[in-house]
Amino acid sequence: MSLTSRTNNKLQYIFLNSRFIRDKFISHAVKEAYRGCIEENRFPVTFVFIQMPYDQYDVNVHPTKIEVRFYNSNLIHSQILAVLREKLLAADIGVSAKLPAPQHKNRQINEAIAEFFQKNRPIHTQQQIGFQTAPPAKKYQTQYISPGTEYESQPPQKRNFLQIHDSFIVAETEDGFCIIDQHALHERIMYENLCRRIKAGKLESQKLLMPESFEVTAAEADAIRNNTALIEKLGIELIPFGPKTMAIQAFAVMLAKASPLDFIKDLIDLLADKCKNENSEKLLDEVLNMAACKAAVKAGQKLNDKEIEQLLTDKDAFQRAGRCPHGRPTMIKFSKAELEKQFKRT
Ligand SMILES: [Zn+2]
Repeated sequence: MSLTSRTNNKLQYIFLNSRFIRDKFISHAVKEAYRGCIEENRFPVTFVFIQMPYDQYDVNVHPTKIEVRFYNSNLIHSQILAVLREKLLAADIGVSAKLPAPQHKNRQINEAIAEFFQKNRPIHTQQQIGFQTAPPAKKYQTQYISPGTEYESQPPQKRNFLQIHDSFIVAETEDGFCIIDQHALHERIMYENLCRRIKAGKLESQKLLMPESFEVTAAEADAIRNNTALIEKLGIELIPFGPKTMAIQAFAVMLAKASPLDFIKDLIDLLADKCKNENSEKLLDEVLNMAACKAAVKAGQKLNDKEIEQLLTDKDAFQRAGRCPHGRPTMIKFSKAELEKQFKRT
């Protein structure tokens, strides 16, 4: 099991009862299993070993016997997909980084990082770099970051962190530190929360103070009509407002950070574009991906300490926090051992 990837699937090796084979169904199952774990256009490097009774497939379909015919290829597909998914969920799919050899410029960066953690160890020096002491546990309330979080929040542990360039969070970990892409991580958290809520029924909605109206073409009106169930699941209420006009009457609480009008327009574009040739599960997944992206904090957005704390707490609560829904990494880990090596402390 690895997250090493290539731009083609040449490095996918499938062995059936120890015989090397090529198989489109299995390649497809592998690709599906890795969806959301690596970037869309990459292929994981994989070795798949399958053991199965010889009477379940035919080897005489290809002169070199590199291709076989499975009598129940759907079963093979679904089993490979299920096994890989399960393994991937349990695996640490985070990205670890090696620090570059300390040359002049790198050394300055490494020294700054080491100094940061040195300074932050004793509590009384925290003020020096503008840190607030963490809020007391009882006051600790989720603000907007995860209104839909359904697990019990633990009282936060004392953590050292720092937001840089209003886009990344440098956070101390048990054995080093990590750099988090705030948008990518929050996007993954939003996505997981949205999936849970949708599975349980629908997103909670809230009436807008003023309905927001927008014009629709005939095709867009069709897309809305064909997807009323989906739109309702998202906690969105649309009403006709005139011959070619609709109005948004209610919007999902969980998506409060997105502008309703902006969101609906993109949603309708997506529905009009995709609904003809996609199965409903895949369409819903795409919609949730879009929703997560729109409702997540953006790069360039200043976060307060509470919001960062919440993000870090949520990060620990999700198994798949290491990758955003598009498969990009959400964080890069650095080990303390590596730092010490670079600074010749060992
Ligand atoms: Zn995004």
